[in-house]
Amino acid sequence: MLLPMLTVIVHGGAGSVDGERLPRCRSGCEQAAAAGWGVLERGGSALEAVETAVRVLEDNPEFNAGYGAVLNRAGEIEVDAAIADGELRIGAVAALPWVRHPISVARRLLERGEHVLLAGAGALAFARECGIEPDPPEQLTTERARTRWEKERAGALPPSGTGDTVGACALDCKGRLAVATSTGGLSGKQPGRVGDSPLFGAGSYAEKNFGAASATGHGESIIRVLMTRSAIDRLRAGSAAMTAAAATVAELGERVAGEGGIILIDRHGAIGHARNTASMPWAAISAGLPSSGT
Ligand code: ASP
Repeated sequence: MLLPMLTVIVHGGAGSVDGERLPRCRSGCEQAAAAGWGVLERGGSALEAVETAVRVLEDNPEFNAGYGAVLNRAGEIEVDAAIADGELRIGAVAALPWVRHPISVARRLLERGEHVLLAGAGALAFARECGIEPDPPEQLTTERARTRWEKERAGALPPSGTGDTVGACALDCKGRLAVATSTGGLSGKQPGRVGDSPLFGAGSYAEKNFGAASATGHGESIIRVLMTRSAIDRLRAGSAAMTAAAATVAELGERVAGEGGIILIDRHGAIGHARNTASMPWAAISAGLPSSGT
């Protein structure tokens, strides 16, 4: 039996990032992968590694998660996030208003073990119970998100654009797998809209002995094909990690004309990534070796 190869991979969202921003998004992913790797290297769990990596991305204004999340039709931030491990322990929050690190609220829900998914006011009440308060709107809203919203309202940009969502998958020294995904969802979305990211099997999935996957792109399409579950089923059937990622993205396009991308890790620490959008910044560290792309 092969020993697990410590691995972390992160993505910064499938979409079409302009050339000028792309290097910043790639380096943001590299920083997040390094943070996750730091956890794995000191013997920390895959769960802690993916939470740590995603928190770094949530703090980075380049990404549509936490600080920098897009605004909905009403000019508000409502975030979705999920975290899960290979034991099928899951915590997820949806349409959670104004919280900078929804991934940590999701982690607390996972640790509590009672419910799997909390939404809206109930999710906010739970966050507060955990000592996590929402940010003042002006502290969470970036100029980029505000400008985009204003352009959408003026009809200069179509609403519901995807991009810049974040996610991470990790495999730790005990062979444990975990996934985390966090997003502001679609820009200009209807208030209360929930995307794929917090839905287990759609935007986020992990299962011991097989793999972990985080999806990004048009959530309504990703939910229809249960994209991450479908990717892990390919690993279960014996596909190599890269082949599974490519076939899953092809399926998204063929079955529902969906646009998006995916990152994944198999149980040995082999990584896969694919997209059918113009860009999807990603970064990984596997057995100490870094790699990244857009
Ligand atoms: N999948 C996210 C959603 O639909 C958006 C994205 O990945 O950019 O909420």
